[in-house]
Formats: sequence, C-alpha cells, structure tokens
Amino acid sequence: MDTYIGMKRGVPRLLAILRNFNVRGTFFLSMGPDSSGRAVFQLVKNPLFLKKMVRTGAGRLYGWRTALYGTLLPSPMIALSFPNLVKDILSDGHDAEFHAWDHRRWQDELPARPYGWIENWFERGVEAYRGMAGREPSSFGAPAWLIDERALEIAAKYSFHYLSCTRAREPFIHDIPGLLEIPSDLPCFEEIGIDDGVSRILRILEDGQTHILPVHAEAEGGVWDRYFEELLKGALQMNYRILPLSKIREILGQSEWPVRRHRMELLPGRSQPCAV
Ligand SMILES: [Zn+2]
Repeated sequence: MDTYIGMKRGVPRLLAILRNFNVRGTFFLSMGPDSSGRAVFQLVKNPLFLKKMVRTGAGRLYGWRTALYGTLLPSPMIALSFPNLVKDILSDGHDAEFHAWDHRRWQDELPARPYGWIENWFERGVEAYRGMAGREPSSFGAPAWLIDERALEIAAKYSFHYLSCTRAREPFIHDIPGLLEIPSDLPCFEEIGIDDGVSRILRILEDGQTHILPVHAEAEGGVWDRYFEELLKGALQMNYRILPLSKIREILGQSEWPVRRHRMELLPGRSQPCAV
C-alpha cells in the first residue's frame, strides 16, 4: 500500500477477500509518512499523470484528504499507524515485506537525491519494519518500480532474499546486488482499466506460466474490489495456484536466470518509466 487511506481501508478489505478465497499473497508495506499531497504538484508538471488521475478517478480511489497530505495537512504515518493490521497480515499467513519509508518522495525525488538520503530512507524504513514485524524484511519492492544503481547498492547491505522492483517480463538476477528479481509482470487495473481488465489478465494466464499480479490496496482493496474478486475467481477456475512471493522464490530457485542490469521503460498506462 502506498497511502494512509489504502492501509486503513484497503488492507482490511484485501485481507477479507483473500481469506474468502483462502489464498495468500505478499503485502509490501509503506512504513512512514504519507506525503501524497505532494503529487498534486505532479499534475502541473506531468500531463500523463493528470491523464492517469482522471482515468482512474483518483479522487474516488484515494479520497481527497489524501490529496492534501504533506501539503495543507500533516503527513500521517502509513503502516506505523496500524500495528494491528500488520499483525493481521502476518497471522493470516501472508508475507509482509518492505516497500517504503516515504513512498511519495522516493517516487518523485529519487533521481535528484544524494546517496546519503537514500541510505537514510532505507535505514528509517527497515528500522520501522523491524519494530513492527519483529524480524528483518526478506524483500524490497521499490515504490513505483523506480530504482537506480545507488538504491540497489544500498539494498545489498540488508538481508533481502530477493527483490521485486521491476516490471520485467521474466525473473532475472540484478548484477548489483546479485539478488533474484521477481518482477510483477502482469498489468494492473490502474494501467488497463476495469472495462475488460479482468478478461485481459485472464487471457495472459492461459499460457499456464508463473505470473505476478501487482495489486494496490487503494484500488483493488477499494472501488475496484469486485473486479479483483472476479479475477481471483477466474484464476482459481483455471486451476492457478495463488502463492505469496516467498513460495514463488523457492520454486524459481536462483541458478538459471540471466544476470543483467535493469533499464527504465515507459509502460502502457503509466505516467512514469518503470524498471524492467
Ligand atoms: Zn507502492
């Protein structure tokens, strides 16, 4: 989840849906401040972002208070505000992994920030994670699938077993830090819309391969929850096993994946380039 409201309302809804279908997933936690309001500045700078906000009905998805956090309203803490929800995620058998300290600032400011800022961002986020989960995170999923070489170098200092930082088509090993990347290869509703989103994703699944679906607490745990349920139902009817990333990590192993560096690419339906 990327926002306070996504954690508060979306995560309980996702937990209920997953419980209903008796499946487990991986939650990537944004620990620290919700400075989403800063995204309003993006409207001015980036016409693609505005298009996405209008298409997805961002006001309905995120609530208008969210649009002001970090600007006119102070930024509330995201996962740190909901220790019981983090416990629920874990006690339901899902993975909970590290997504962010300040999601919005990473997304908007990473390239412009110095090395020490990134180190500090990781340190605060992972420390907060340890405090809540009582252990080291096994994985890092980068906000907005945005990474650079500095971020990967810093990630190497933690005991991550794998990363999920890209939208690549297939798993690979990041040359730095030598960790397996398990990419979210499927599109999400935010990108392809809900009119035929479910059928488009199910059609991709017909190949019977392993796929990773990115889900946003704000969307699939909010106004688009029934489409998410439809998708789960469809995938289970196709005899797909739905597993958390820790299990997929075990299945994928390490050896035969190519070692390479990521590159940035603007994918259909997104406003900013993602690592692939
Ligand atoms: Zn995110």
